[in-house]
Amino acid sequence: MILNKIGNIIKQNNDFAIVSHLLPDGDAIGSTLGLYNFLNEIGKEVDAYNPDKLPLKFDFLPGFSDVKNTLIDKHYDCIFVLDCSDKERLGHLVELLNKADVVVNIDHHISNDLFADVNYVDTNAGAVGEIIYNLIRINGFEISQKTAMCLYTSIVTDTGGFKYSNTTSMTLNIAGDLINTGIDFPEINRILFDTLTVQQVKLLSKVTSTLELYKDNSIAVIYVTKDMLEECGANENDASEMVNYARDIDTVEVGVFIKEVEKGKYRVSLRSKNKIDVRMIAEKFNGGGHIRAAGCTVFGDLDEVKNKVLNEILNHWK
Ligand code: 5GP
Ligand code: MN
Repeated sequence: MILNKIGNIIKQNNDFAIVSHLLPDGDAIGSTLGLYNFLNEIGKEVDAYNPDKLPLKFDFLPGFSDVKNTLIDKHYDCIFVLDCSDKERLGHLVELLNKADVVVNIDHHISNDLFADVNYVDTNAGAVGEIIYNLIRINGFEISQKTAMCLYTSIVTDTGGFKYSNTTSMTLNIAGDLINTGIDFPEINRILFDTLTVQQVKLLSKVTSTLELYKDNSIAVIYVTKDMLEECGANENDASEMVNYARDIDTVEVGVFIKEVEKGKYRVSLRSKNKIDVRMIAEKFNGGGHIRAAGCTVFGDLDEVKNKVLNEILNHWK
């Protein structure tokens, strides 16, 4: 089985790197740091990387401040690429792929284009953290509290607190085993789901006031501009989960959140409830994701971006 093969790569080598996708979310960070702590604990040399700055919200995770943003001059035996459907999502760190004897790609996105030497894509996994858990266990290793904190964070964030349809009995069994290590999971949940900064609350009131509804209130669009962020003293990451306010409206099937990155360039987050496969919509703009949560980058001014995305949603309407 491929997880044994990857286990053997771990056992037989010493120098590892781990990287995940840009604009990292809880799964990217949690799975990276879970594998990072584990490899450290079994005595391996390991560097963790991410092409972007990690949101400070995750600073409670062991190893958070070790994550590097720029390549160091080193050749690795093996590099792990986690939660990353294609090479482009590595941004400037794509160069890492040329700095290792073996590249191992571990992911749960159906759209993964199998870019590595060893590819393991499990689309039934709610989060990459589940796969890292299985990798560690199947190869006969223990999971420390440090590793468990990271893997729990990966799983609980990508499943929206075990609420989304990607949650399986396997997800809950794994989470149960992680909790059995003695981690303070209520505190982790509080940090991840029930904590906002003053800046975020101020921003939330501005963002929700941009609400526009279409198709009998079944499509909701909200946005944030750089000016709005500045007025609230907020940073880019402070808006990261606000798409949920669009999705959560009772009549809404598709929630859209548009975030200005720079003039003429916007990040679009898409969420759906029951019918619409938002990954298909994101892929029209060279993005991707999952059936109920996807994202892409769209170019143009705000109204153009809004119209392009709306038209594409209407094209997929069932
Ligand atoms: P978010 O809206 O939170 O940025 O992203 C939702 C999901 O869509 C993420 O889990 C991620 O897998 C995926 N995603 C977001 N943006 C992109 C993108 O530009 N390309 C690809 N391939 N996937 C994306
Ligand atoms: Mn993920």
